[in-house]
Amino acid sequence: MKVLVLGAGQLARMMALASKPLNIDVKAYDVGSNRVVDPLSLSVDYGDLDQGIADADFITAEFEHISHDVLALCEQSGKLFPSSQAIKTGGDRRLEKTLLEQTHVTNAKHKVVANKADFDSAIASLSLPLIMKSALAGYDGKGQWRLKDKSEAEAIWQDIQLFIEGDTSGQPQAIVVEQMVPFDREVSMVGVRSKTGETLAYPLTENHHSKGVLSVSLALNEHQHLQAQATEAFDKIANALDYVGVLAIEFFQVGDSLLVNEIAPRVHNSGHWTQQGADTSQFENHIRAVCQLPLGSTELVRPSAMVNILGTDTVPNNIFEIPSVTMHWYGKGKRPGRKMGHINICGKDKAELTMRLSQLAKILPKDDFPDVSEYVKSL
Ligand code: AMP
Repeated sequence: MKVLVLGAGQLARMMALASKPLNIDVKAYDVGSNRVVDPLSLSVDYGDLDQGIADADFITAEFEHISHDVLALCEQSGKLFPSSQAIKTGGDRRLEKTLLEQTHVTNAKHKVVANKADFDSAIASLSLPLIMKSALAGYDGKGQWRLKDKSEAEAIWQDIQLFIEGDTSGQPQAIVVEQMVPFDREVSMVGVRSKTGETLAYPLTENHHSKGVLSVSLALNEHQHLQAQATEAFDKIANALDYVGVLAIEFFQVGDSLLVNEIAPRVHNSGHWTQQGADTSQFENHIRAVCQLPLGSTELVRPSAMVNILGTDTVPNNIFEIPSVTMHWYGKGKRPGRKMGHINICGKDKAELTMRLSQLAKILPKDDFPDVSEYVKSL
């Protein structure tokens, strides 16, 4: 079987690596160059999008900010999974919030703002502090503003106006204004849905962010009450979208309750630990669902964690002296803050995993991994 992935980044690469043993061939469509490439070398050229669509049995995506023209072309072929509507919903916070409201899934109080009158009425009707997020093309903390006091409103609005005017997406931009949630921690659920409607969820993952970017994910399988809540939300959202493939949902935990922050219609950074910690990795399960093969078990085989490597292309070799450490480089050129790879690490129980994580944190250079030690100490 042949799969075309829209997007040629690390997620397409890891889908290709997971597909090889299944004898499934994965190619990637680089939206920047409009060429179909090999997701590992990126250098081999297999033609343009039309050629890629014609050659593929199935098409999927590794990110949600894909032009609607490209999505329409892929959907017309009948090979695109998940649907263009599901991908668009993940790429537009307005559609995402509408879906959460329609499916009665708890999320932060919010208003959609397109002009100054909307902005003023959102500030008047919601409780401060507020977080404001661009509806389109906002990710990893970009396109966001925080308002703690009404006196800041005018300056923030000026900035938002500039942001909206500078938008080049060709689609009407807007801002979603949300009440800040006083969360205890951030968790996510990665799950998979088949074309026949079967759903399977991985254990909830605790996520630690640094400057708005995921730094460490931890999967322990010890939150049964929360797991049930998250699974219910996952099923509601995935069923409403008639979703096919892996879908990730990010939550805020407040006490014993979960509120959805956002959804990602794709394999997700907080699910990378599944490569070593689950019966079937998220990458293999996504490909299985897209290719209409039976889904693989999402059971945790051992407590696991993932540490992101941001902005550096080297780590000390003695990390390999720690049992169970697995390295995943993405083969990308170095840029400040860029996701360059990740380290997976596991243990037979939580105590062994946290012991190994603290060994790892001691070896990793503080300049490149500024807050990993502190987070590991808090476990
Ligand atoms: P997002 O791009 O929506 O994932 O937001 C980036 C980060 O901002 C999240 O990981 C949270 O740490 C924080 N954040 C986003 N929305 C809220 C909210 N409503 N309340 C509190 N923190 C938030």
